[in-house]
Order: sequence, then structure tokens, then C-alpha cells
Amino acid sequence: MRPAILNPLFAEIASLPGIGPKTGKLFERLFSGAPLVLDLLFHLPHKTIDRRNRPRIKDAPRDEIVTLEVRVAEHRPPQNTRSKAPYRVLVEDETGDVLLIFFLANHGWIEKSLPIGAKRWVSGRLELWDGHLQMVHPDRVLDEEGLARLPPIEPVYFLTEGLHQRNVQKAAEAALARLSDLPEWLDPAFQAQRKWPGFRQALLEQHHPSSPRAIEPTSPSRMRLAYDELLANQLALVLVRAHMRQQSGRAHQGTGILSTKIESALPFTLTQAQIKALSEIRADLAQPRRMLRLLQGDVGSGKTLVALLAMASVVEAGSQAAMMAPTEILARQHFERMLPLCEQAGLRLGLLTGRDKAAERNKTLAALAQGEIDILIGTHAIFQEKVVFKDLAFAVVDEQHRFGVHQRLALGDKGENVDILVMTATPIPRTLVLTYFGDMDVSTLREKPAGRQPIDTRALPIDRLDEMIEAVGRALANGARVYWICPLVEESEDLDISAVEERHEMLMQFFGNKVGLVHGRMKGPDKDAAMDHFQRGETQILVATTVIEVGVDVPQATIMIIEHAERFGLAQLHQLRGRVGRGSNKSSCVLLYKAPLGEVAKARISIMRESEDGFRIAEEDLRLRGEGEILGTRQSGVPGFRIADLSVHAELLAIARDDAQLILQKDPQLASPRGEALRALLYLFGRDAAIKVLRAG
Ligand code: ADP
Ligand code: MG
Repeated sequence: MRPAILNPLFAEIASLPGIGPKTGKLFERLFSGAPLVLDLLFHLPHKTIDRRNRPRIKDAPRDEIVTLEVRVAEHRPPQNTRSKAPYRVLVEDETGDVLLIFFLANHGWIEKSLPIGAKRWVSGRLELWDGHLQMVHPDRVLDEEGLARLPPIEPVYFLTEGLHQRNVQKAAEAALARLSDLPEWLDPAFQAQRKWPGFRQALLEQHHPSSPRAIEPTSPSRMRLAYDELLANQLALVLVRAHMRQQSGRAHQGTGILSTKIESALPFTLTQAQIKALSEIRADLAQPRRMLRLLQGDVGSGKTLVALLAMASVVEAGSQAAMMAPTEILARQHFERMLPLCEQAGLRLGLLTGRDKAAERNKTLAALAQGEIDILIGTHAIFQEKVVFKDLAFAVVDEQHRFGVHQRLALGDKGENVDILVMTATPIPRTLVLTYFGDMDVSTLREKPAGRQPIDTRALPIDRLDEMIEAVGRALANGARVYWICPLVEESEDLDISAVEERHEMLMQFFGNKVGLVHGRMKGPDKDAAMDHFQRGETQILVATTVIEVGVDVPQATIMIIEHAERFGLAQLHQLRGRVGRGSNKSSCVLLYKAPLGEVAKARISIMRESEDGFRIAEEDLRLRGEGEILGTRQSGVPGFRIADLSVHAELLAIARDDAQLILQKDPQLASPRGEALRALLYLFGRDAAIKVLRAG
């Protein structure tokens, strides 16, 4: 149950004074959904206007917001009332004069607010126009009384069209009035050492900044709120983790019989990194506690094989294993690549996707329940209730970031104390591993299998498309296989599809039936067929949207062309490029861009040309874009942070993690007074789902 003290903050903002249906709609647009009082509180200003700046007219800086103390000298209304000319008011001090300009003015208001001869304070941007100083639509016109109420530093908020600063300021004001002092959840010594204010005080300081520096990311109040958010995040992760760990695990000690057979069927030897990761995973499996491990490695670093060998160990110990892929194509591909190895070793492999025919599916389900399938490969279809294992002991989740935490837990429910290995091909900077996976154990494959050749990466403006097509023609004549990736249009999948179809048609005019097409809207069997044709070399160019981003493996493909490369994030470019350079032939990647490039796009492209190290690229990506983009969370809907900014607050994350661990060591049920306060914190930052695991015990 949510602590009652929080109820006013969880009310809809329509309950606040001054928010009617019209502004309510605008706020809904701003927050993409009906906001709560709390959302207003967390909608922090991103800059301030300093109204303490009160120069005399002669000394007033241009193009800055200033507040002038003036006497109203003269009114100059437009000559005729129909004219579009503005209403001008001349104001002065002893050093000079300024014209106040009002378009479409309400004459009555002007006469009332700016009576001739009166002393007034006007605040706004001062500019020089036609040799005269002017202020267009001053944002404040105040008398003495109004001045006394003017906040010296005014917060400025992000808006949406139709919404004004005043609307948000007023709403924030009303929201603050609903906020009472909450019991402190920070460790008192830590808080004192950092000189951080309380939660309420910090929010007051953000919305009523006492100086422009108050809203900087490193100010005490901003740091405190960022820390609160990070602590809520880490506490939730540690809670879920502790819950999983509490359920005592089972020990699976493999004999090595099956995995040795697989290894000896391989045409290569394992890399040192693979050997190390495997031994870490096997050690976890052999322990009688529940495993929760992340295997991260760049594209092509050989994670799938590590997973297969680990699954074989579990089968050796008499249980079943499952591996879940994010897409149909990938599940099928894993299955096909593992099948020959499994057959050699006498392992029974099954495949389950959402697309199986009923009869086939029932057969698979029966075999699974009987224990006649040792390893099941599948998509999220594996989560469905009807899927029953005889004895699932180990689950591998490939490309984790496409799945949410709750799905991860759901898979764990399919068997008794299932050990879980999460694999991600997106190298994640250390700071983010903490954020998204908490204190999960991590194995890393940083070394690539021997014999890989560097990928020659170039950038080419799209106006030189004809050159590109000529070059592709030459490569095709030499038997090359080419991926041609089409623009990502974030707002609309339809646009994606039409762009990719258009390019497909155009390339067909040059290369006829050598050109294949695959995109997300195609029916499953058609997708498979397109992939198949490309894999077998029946088509040599595959025009595709980013459906091929994740994990597709055609070692013969050596050329990757990415159109509108400027629209992709770094991580995605890296993933796409990782589709080539998988065989022993030299590969290349061409980033086709539309000039002129913005600063960020330029930086991205030059990093791509410089480096193939996914970990370095991920760090750079974090620097350039913030955390959402790296994990693709913006697309997948995983909530990011609203206050904390990991490019500034990464230091706090590690502290929050230690703090969270310590808290749960001392108070595993969050039952102490501080524990109670922390429960409120979890609600405030939307991490209260974790409280459920407390109740479940
Ligand atoms: P990831 O899943 O990490 O992207 P994969 O497991 O798909 O990588 O491996 C990419 C390719 O490298 C596959 O064709 C695989 O057979 C091959 N491979 C894996 N391990 C090795 C190794 N130790 N030496 C050579 N090739 C390897
Ligand atoms: Mg893979």
C-alpha cells in the first residue's frame, strides 16, 4: 500500500487550482499522458531568468533579459484601429528611453497598466531596432507591489505548443503546496557530509531557485534529487535480485561429455575470453544458489557458442535449458546453427516460435513436457502458459534489452529456481551495467575470434549515390554479398517501409533479381524466404530496414551500406556494421549521409571510422547522447531517468548501489523507520513494483 502521506502527490493535476480542461489538455501533451501532481514536481526547470539584473537604460545590455525602473512618458497607439501596427509606449529614466512594443494589443490593459507619468518596472529582452532601444512584449509590467512579489530568479521550463511559462510556473506552485515534509530516507551522516537539503526543500529550491546555479546538475538540491532517483532504481534492483537469490538454487554439475563433443565438432578453438566466461558460468551453475549473470560481448564475439556449451552442461546434469531470442529470425537462426553441433553431440534441440503450426507446436510442447527436448530455442512464445518443461534449470535470454525485467522473472517461473544468463550484444558502459542490471554478475567477451579482418569504414554523401551503385555493381560481379540498410524514420514505420521498398525497386532496375528485400512488416515466412535466398547467395543484395540489426549472421556478406547514416545512433551503426566482417574475406562499410551533417552526426561518423571496439563506441555514445539511446530503451519503452543524468551523476550511481545493498542487509523487509521512508521513495520514483517481492517473501 502506498503511504497515505503520498496521496496528494498521486492525484491528477486536474485537481490543482488553476488547471482547467484546456490547460489540462496541454499538460497531457507535455507529459504524453495524464500527469500527476508528482510529475509536475519532477518537471524541473532547465534554465532561469535572472531578474536581479536592474541596470539603468544607458548601461543596459542588449539581447538580454533586464528589468528596468522607468517612468511612463508617452502612449503611441496605432493610427487606425484596423492597422497591424503595434501599440507603442515610450518609457524613460534619467539616462535614456525605450519603446515598449505591443502587437495586437489590448488597449484598455495598456492604459491601465502603464498610465502616463507612473513609475513602473518592465522586464524583458532589450534590443536595438532602427536606431532605437525597444522591448517587444515585456514579460513583466509591474508596479511597486508587483515588484515586491517578483521572484528574483525565475525558473524556465520545457513547454509544449500553446503552454506558457506562466502556466507551468503556476501549476508547479500549486503542486508544491501539496507537498509536505516526508520522513528522510537518506543516511543522515551521508546527507550531512554532502550538505544536501531534504527532499521537499530540494524541490522547493529547484522551482524557486535562489540563484541561477541552483538548477545546475551539480547543485546540492539537484544532486540530492538525482541521488534519490538512483537510489530508488538501485534499491529496486537489489530487492528483485535478493528475492531471486533467496529462493535457493540447485547445483548443476556437468560431466563435460556433451560439451566436449560439441567442442570437438567445431572447426576452431575457443578464445581465451570464451573459455573464461564459460568457466564463470559453469561455476555459477554448479553452486546451489540461483545464478543471475550477464554475458556481454560485442557482435560476433561468440556469445551464442558460450551459451550453447553452458546449456550442454545443464543437460549433462540431467535437466533442460532454454534460450530466448528477441525475434523470429534470430530464434530460427540460432536453431539452425546449433542443430548440426547438437546432432553430433546427441543433444535434442527444439524450436518454438509464435508462428508454428498447431500440430507441430503441440508435438513440441508434448516433447518438452516429457523431457524429450533437451534444449528449447524460441521467441517470447516461451513465456506462454501452455509451455511446460519437464525440468527447466537454465534459461538464456539473448539481447536482453529488448525484454523487460518482468519478462526475465517470468521465464524464471517456468522451472524450479531457474538459473538465468542474460546476453547482450550491445556493449554497455560500466555505469550503465549498474543501472540496468544492478549487481548482476558480469562476464565479458572483449576479445574477438582470431582471423577477423578489420572493416574498412567510409562515409559518402548521398549525392554520390551513382558512384556507390557502380561500385556495388563491380563487387557483385566478383560474387560479393551486400546489405543495404534504409533510413530509420522514427515517427513512422510506414515511412520506413516505403523508403525501403523504393530503394529496392530502384536497385532492381540495376541488378534485377539479384536484389532481395526484408522489413518488419513482412509476413514471417516471407522474411525467412528473403533471408534464406540471401544466405544461399540466390540474391546478392539484401535491402533491409533495421530488422537485421540484431544478430543476423551471414558470414559471406562483406559489404554493409547504411543509407542516411546520420539518422542512426552510434550503437545502432555499430550493430549494423557488425553484420559484416564475420568471414575471412575483407569487409567494408559505407555510411551514406545527407549533407550537411550536424555536430553530433559528424562526431558519430568519425568515431565509427576510427574504432571497431564496441565498448569504446558505447562510451562515446554515452557521452554524445545520454543513456537512453545506447540501450535502445527509447524504442523499447524501458523508463529512463527523469532527473539523474549519468553523464554527470555516474559517481552517485555506485554510491547508491552500495547504499542499497547495505540497507537491505540491515533491513531486508524495509520494516525500520528508514525502511518505511524508503518505501515512499520507491513509490515516488515509480519503482514500487519491487515492493511486491518483499511481500512475496
Ligand atoms: P555473437 O552471438 O557474440 O554475436 P556468434 O556467437 O554469433 O557471436 O559468433 C559469430 C561467429 O563467430 C559465428 O559464425 C561463430 O561460429 C564464430 N565463432 C564463435 N566463436 C569462435 C571462435 N572461438 N573462433 C572462431 N570463430 C568463432
Ligand atoms: Mg548473437
